[in-house]
Amino acid sequence: MISMKFNRSHYIENINKGMIGQEVILGGWVEDLRKMGKMTFITLRDATGITQIILTDDVMKSIDDITRQSVVRVTGKIQDTKARDFECEIKASEINVLARAVHPLPIDPIGRLESHIDNRLNSRALDMRNQKTASIFKIRHHVLASLRQTFLEKKFIEITTPKIIGSASEGGANLFALDYFGKQAYLAQSPQLYKEQMTIGLERVFEIASFYRAEKSHTGRHLSEFTSVDMEAAFMDYSDVMDVLEDLVLNTFKHVSENCKDEQEIIGNQITIPDRPFEKITYSDALDELNKKDVKLEFGDDLLDSHLRIIGENHTGFYFLTDWPIKLKPFYIMENQDKPEISESFDLQFGYLELSSGGTRLHNPEKIKNRLAEQGLDPAKFSEHLQAFDWGMPPHAGWGLGLERLLTIIIGIDNVREVILYPRDPERLKP
Ligand code: ATP
Ligand code: MN
Repeated sequence: MISMKFNRSHYIENINKGMIGQEVILGGWVEDLRKMGKMTFITLRDATGITQIILTDDVMKSIDDITRQSVVRVTGKIQDTKARDFECEIKASEINVLARAVHPLPIDPIGRLESHIDNRLNSRALDMRNQKTASIFKIRHHVLASLRQTFLEKKFIEITTPKIIGSASEGGANLFALDYFGKQAYLAQSPQLYKEQMTIGLERVFEIASFYRAEKSHTGRHLSEFTSVDMEAAFMDYSDVMDVLEDLVLNTFKHVSENCKDEQEIIGNQITIPDRPFEKITYSDALDELNKKDVKLEFGDDLLDSHLRIIGENHTGFYFLTDWPIKLKPFYIMENQDKPEISESFDLQFGYLELSSGGTRLHNPEKIKNRLAEQGLDPAKFSEHLQAFDWGMPPHAGWGLGLERLLTIIIGIDNVREVILYPRDPERLKP
C-alpha cells in the first residue's frame, strides 16, 4: 500500500534542463501512453504543464493495466531527451496509481476527437482536462480579477445583494418563482433596486454575481442563470458610466492580452485591443441606418435581433447605442431634460450582440411613482425601495454587463455555454 501522504516535490512547469540528474516526485494524469520495445513512454499532465516519463519494464510491470487519465505519482530522475516537444524527461524509478480512470471515457479529454458540446457539458469535470476548455476558464478567472482591479482603482465597493427576493423587483415577467417557507419568493433577475439604494451610503458600488432569467430563449447568448457585472455610482450620469464601462472593457482586454499568452495560443484566438473611444450612435441614427436598408421602423419601435444584425454589419466592434425612447426603458431610467420622449440610456454593443444596458436613474420618488403607474406597476409594492429615496438619494447612474457575453467576444466564440461551468438553460438543469 502506498502512503496517503503525497510528497510532490515539483509542479511540472518548474522542471527544466538545468535540473538534469535531480530526483523529483511528480503527480498528475496519464495523458498518453505508448509502449516501444522494453520501454513505456507516458505523457504526464498536472495543472501547470506536461512532461514525458520513461519507464523500464520492471517499473512498468507494477502498474500493467494502467489506463489513460488515471492519477499517478512518479518518482524519478530528470534526464536529457530526444523528444521534440520536451526539453527534458523523467526516468522513473517508481510509479504508483493513486486513482484509476475508467476505459473508455465518455469524451476524449485531449480533444483529439472533437466531442459535441452537449457531451462535453455532461462530463464537464473531465472536459476541464481539455486544454482549450481549461484555457477558457483561466481567461475567465483573469477577466474577473481584472474587473475587480479596475473597480478598485475607481474606488468602487464590492457588494453582495440578495438572490432570494420577496417581490418582483422590475415587474413580474421572467422571474423564477419558488416557495419560501410557505411564502411566494423569486430568484433575483438583477441587483437593480438594491444597488441603487446603496449609493446613498457607499456612493460607488459594484457586484459580480449570478442572476436568473426565466426566459425560454434558445440562443447562443441567453442563459437561465448568468453572471452579471453591475455597477451604480452617485453623482454620475449616463455618459460618466459609459466612460467607466469603456475603461473597464479596455483594461480587461489589455490584462488578458498580457497575462494569458499561452491560453490565447491554445484556443487559437489572439486578442486585439479595441480602439477608443467607442463609437456612439443614437437610437435615431440606428433607425436612419435601418431605413436606408429598407427596414422601416417608427420612433418607439424596439430593435429586434434581426434589426441589430443589420446595424452590426456597419458597426462590427464595440459601440454604444444611446438615447432610447423612454417608453422602451424600465421605470427607473431618467428622461432627457429637453426631450422627455428620449431617455438617458445606452446599450453597449459588439456588432449585433448586446453586452450591457445602463443609464441615468431617476432619483425623485414622485417621478418614479408616476413612471411605475404608467407602466402598470403598483407603486405601493415598491414602498420599501422608495423609502430610501426620502433619505437623501443622490443623482446616480449605472449599468449591468453580461460576463458570459463579454467572454464570448474575448475568446472569439459564439455560445455562452462554452464560458460558464454548468450552464442552465430551458433544456439543461443537470449536471
Ligand atoms: P436581451 O435583450 O439580449 O435578452 P436584456 O436587455 O433583457 O438582454 P438586461 O436586462 O439589459 O438584458 O441585462 C443586462 C445585461 O445582462 C445584458 O446586456 C446581457 O449582457 C446580460 N444578460 C441579460 N440576460 C441574459 C441572459 N439570459 N443570459 C446571459 N446574459 C444575459
Ligand atoms: Mn438590455
